[in-house]
Amino acid sequence: KELIHKLEQTIQNIPDFPQPGIQFKDITPIFLNPKLYEEVIEDLANFSRGKVDAVCGIESRGYLFGIAIAVALEVPFILIRKKGKLPPPFVSEKYNLEYGTSEIEMREGQLKPGQRILIHDDLLATGGTTEAAARLVEKQGGIVSEFSFLIGLKDLNGAERLKKFNAEVYTVLEY
Ligand code: IMP
Repeated sequence: KELIHKLEQTIQNIPDFPQPGIQFKDITPIFLNPKLYEEVIEDLANFSRGKVDAVCGIESRGYLFGIAIAVALEVPFILIRKKGKLPPPFVSEKYNLEYGTSEIEMREGQLKPGQRILIHDDLLATGGTTEAAARLVEKQGGIVSEFSFLIGLKDLNGAERLKKFNAEVYTVLEY
């Protein structure tokens, strides 16, 4: 597809950042090109159109596309934040990182039981963050019905890890 080709030309590959051996995908040049940004939103929104009642975006790059997807679909957008940023009342979910643990939070009551939820982030790597987000959604009675990402890193098998949620997984492009 032409969109994929344009994105491949635009996203920058930064070797050895933030650590040696990691190939960092820098998506920031996309925001220099409003037409391209619009096409990305249209592509992501088309995937979820008519199938979700709300979008949950994961801090912080999940907000860059997530909120625009929600506006395009005319459904609520709910922020999933890192620990310590949201005022109470909130619900939280712990998850394991390579070293140590982390925690994500959502304002209580924003997600309504029974709602079909799209969980969106910029990039799917191991799926650890997204899996925690899905548990946080289910904890509040939400139905995880879709996951979408701008980028999927195939070798890290994130999609495999998300299979237990029985939701569709969409990535605009894969590396
Ligand atoms: P996971 O939990 O291993 O799937 O990691 C996904 C999270 O790490 C997402 O929130 C991404 O924003 C971030 N991330 C990991 N690698 C990259 C990268 O190469 N570029 C941008 N973000 C990344």
